[in-house]
Amino acid sequence: MRRLRRVKILATLGPASETRPVLAKLFEAGADVFRINMSHASHDAMRERIRMIRSLEAQYNRSIGILVDLQGPKLRVGTFAQGGVDLVKGAEFWLDSNPEPGDIHRVFLPHPEILRALRPDHFVLIDDGKVKLQIVSCEPERSMARVVVAGRISNRKGVSLPDTEIPTSAMTPKDRSDLDAALNEGVDWVAVSFVQRPEDVAEVKKIARGRALILSKIEKPQAIARLEEIVEISDAIMVARGDLGVEMPLQQVPGLQKRIVRLARKLGKPVVVATQMLESMINSPVPTRAEVSDVANAVFEGADAIMLSAESAAGQYPVEAISTMDSIAREVESDSNYLPLIASLRAVPEPTGADAIAVAARDVAETLDVKAIVGWTASGSTALRIARERPRTQILALTPNIETARRLALVWGTHAVITQDARDVADMSDRACQICFRDDFAKESERILIVAGVPFGTPGATNMMRISYIGPENDVP
Ligand code: PEP
Repeated sequence: MRRLRRVKILATLGPASETRPVLAKLFEAGADVFRINMSHASHDAMRERIRMIRSLEAQYNRSIGILVDLQGPKLRVGTFAQGGVDLVKGAEFWLDSNPEPGDIHRVFLPHPEILRALRPDHFVLIDDGKVKLQIVSCEPERSMARVVVAGRISNRKGVSLPDTEIPTSAMTPKDRSDLDAALNEGVDWVAVSFVQRPEDVAEVKKIARGRALILSKIEKPQAIARLEEIVEISDAIMVARGDLGVEMPLQQVPGLQKRIVRLARKLGKPVVVATQMLESMINSPVPTRAEVSDVANAVFEGADAIMLSAESAAGQYPVEAISTMDSIAREVESDSNYLPLIASLRAVPEPTGADAIAVAARDVAETLDVKAIVGWTASGSTALRIARERPRTQILALTPNIETARRLALVWGTHAVITQDARDVADMSDRACQICFRDDFAKESERILIVAGVPFGTPGATNMMRISYIGPENDVP
């Protein structure tokens, strides 16, 4: 099965998509990677979903990516004697370390490290910013705030701190246990939430030790402040527009999306645009015009993947949401402005053999109008650098490693096939031709371009390029 689009679709799983028949429909409709959100899944539920995805993979003989999203340090207030309080503008309100139920004057903030990190003037946003407080004075165990935006706070509502650097790791004990469970299941990608510093990503990478690749969710102003370092150390990036739009002014989110996508493309890291892409499809079988434009815009920017959250996890139309995304993406990709637009955002190559060859491969492929650029790739890095060029020509990645094929499910324009390493140059060319013919990339007497590293199977050794013709002998399916 081959997708007829370059951008990938990442679909979050949840109650609306927990049975195998629905999962199969989501895959058939276009989902390339499935996301399991550990804010809502137990270890058993995660394992069950992984088992179903792996069985779909076997049924369709296509590699499917699995991304496990760690909850991160989700901060919450404690409880209230009356279940909640209505705060009025200008009122004083204390956040403190007293676990007693709160009232109109105070509430427990069960995070002592946050109480110590708050400073006068810092904003404290409650329930996705519906209530906004500003700190007036701080003591080690409590802080007094003034209500800037009035509203109701009820038991255990979420707290966002756009100005406060949280002095602890992005990984909580729950995340650590979820991470271990996910790594034991051999998931392909792990997403880290509320990353603030490159060290947060380094900590998770140190534990993962290459068993899964690490995607950093950009959703905090602190991460924006150190964006380049974070993108550099991460294996992939997500523009997590939900929390980003709480912690930063909403009107800044479109510009930040462009900045993050461009930087990730420049550094050759897959980038996902996420949240509320087809939000109205949670309850409606058709999207709004604005949502269609939003999805189209991410595709025009050259993002690697676009994501569905509640639309596929908890909505009434999960399959329709994916087919809608798929058809928007295919339409955009056939628009005459698409290739010139993403080419205009292409970054200059880095001075490495792999990049020099990736640039040359795109150039040769487009000059000769070959039917595919075939990258032999052990770790996936050759395919990533070719995808970074965003060539007009289709990309086929050939790899002996199932993990690599699954990870590449998130990468722009890349169709991965698992096959043994090439024995020699003749085998490299013959097998590339056979697979191109079999998977409908090229017909007899058409040309393909092959990129590889010799000696074969050595990661990071991309050093050759070859043009091959599909011969009559490849007519054997
Ligand atoms: C987001 O905030 O946009 C996001 C993707 O994260 P989550 O769904 O975990 O809130």
